Amino acid sequence: MYDVKLVREDFPILSREIYGKPLVYLDNGATTQKPRQVVEAMVDEYYNVNANVHRGVHFLSQQATDLHEASREAVRQFIHARSMSEIVFTRGTTESINLLAFSFGEAMVHAGDEVLVSVMEHHSNIVPWQMMCERKGAQLRVIPMSDEGELQLDALEGMLNERTRIVCCTQVSNVLGTVNPVKEVVKMAHKWGVPVLVDGAQSAPHMVVDVQDLDCDFFAFSGHKVYGPTGVGVLYGKETWLEQLPPYQGGGEMIQKVTWERTTYNQLPYKFEAGTPDYVATHGLAKALEYVSALGMENIETHEQALTRYALKRLGEIEGMQIFGKANEHDAVISFLVGNIHHLDMGTLLDHLGIAVRTGHHCAEPLMRRLGIEGTVRASFALYNTTEEVDALVEGIEQVRRMF
Ligand code: PLP
Repeated sequence: MYDVKLVREDFPILSREIYGKPLVYLDNGATTQKPRQVVEAMVDEYYNVNANVHRGVHFLSQQATDLHEASREAVRQFIHARSMSEIVFTRGTTESINLLAFSFGEAMVHAGDEVLVSVMEHHSNIVPWQMMCERKGAQLRVIPMSDEGELQLDALEGMLNERTRIVCCTQVSNVLGTVNPVKEVVKMAHKWGVPVLVDGAQSAPHMVVDVQDLDCDFFAFSGHKVYGPTGVGVLYGKETWLEQLPPYQGGGEMIQKVTWERTTYNQLPYKFEAGTPDYVATHGLAKALEYVSALGMENIETHEQALTRYALKRLGEIEGMQIFGKANEHDAVISFLVGNIHHLDMGTLLDHLGIAVRTGHHCAEPLMRRLGIEGTVRASFALYNTTEEVDALVEGIEQVRRMF
């Protein structure tokens, strides 16, 4: 049995009051709160282990290195990758995609080539590709979606051709909550020998991720959205691809040998990890993954799915409610507007009731343009949210509505 009350005790921040009201934290798509287990493990590492990794022969350095590399193994297990060589630590999803866009672009993209991204991407999965396309004289093309917010696979079929170099697609939309059929996307792209990057920033916290089952070539996610610390993320890449790509940044750790004439590069994954990594954060991330795995990703998904269904039903009963994203496969993100109340007004007034939601374009301006709006209010759920909190949100919205 999934005991959400017990789970909440692991998150001290959830017992805070905001403006004298119990905090209702529904901004989990932006970042999640951290359980004690993560914070305490990181404090313990700073107090008792701290030393730079990979470089020292001394005891502490070796202990810190062991923790850091054990974290890589924890990530490998969490996303079911084949090998630790395929797990590159970065600062987050954004840096993972920038790394890939740069390295992949350098090695694989030429003038006249095409890069496909979906219309529902976060700016982090648009701008790095745009920058690379500009540099290389390539073209960025957009996979459209239906009015329900579902990716149009038939359109993708028609867009793939011999000029396509890579397809980049989010597994879960951070605005619409749509769960994209990325396995299908991968199958279609592979028919043309085209690799696929899956942006897993919004999927890794909510569902079992199996990169081998998806057969995706690259997968990116952020630690801070999976109950881990900020400043750490992951780029997964199939070894066969990563071997072919040049490094992203130069410096310590990514080298094998440096002379004035030339530098040879380290083996995978270190070739992509220049400089001192945030080894305390990687340890924190491992503890976060351990935490969610102990609860069971399937149990978390069941809990959040029930909560989302309940929220969609209750929110749908509010007069003037417009929900954006009606995909059949819907994750724990709900974007909405009520009547002609501006999203910023709604967010600000809900905040005064202790309810934290996100407002604005959610770093997806092209998607907002597709929807014909400037922004939405977004409630996004996590493993510790409850039906009582959904009720508080509904009651809060009703109060704001009455004020208008
Ligand atoms: N991709 C998606 C779908 C996101 O929702 C986000 C963050 O909201 C990102 C990428 C960027 O993540 P980060 O800021 O952790 O790099």
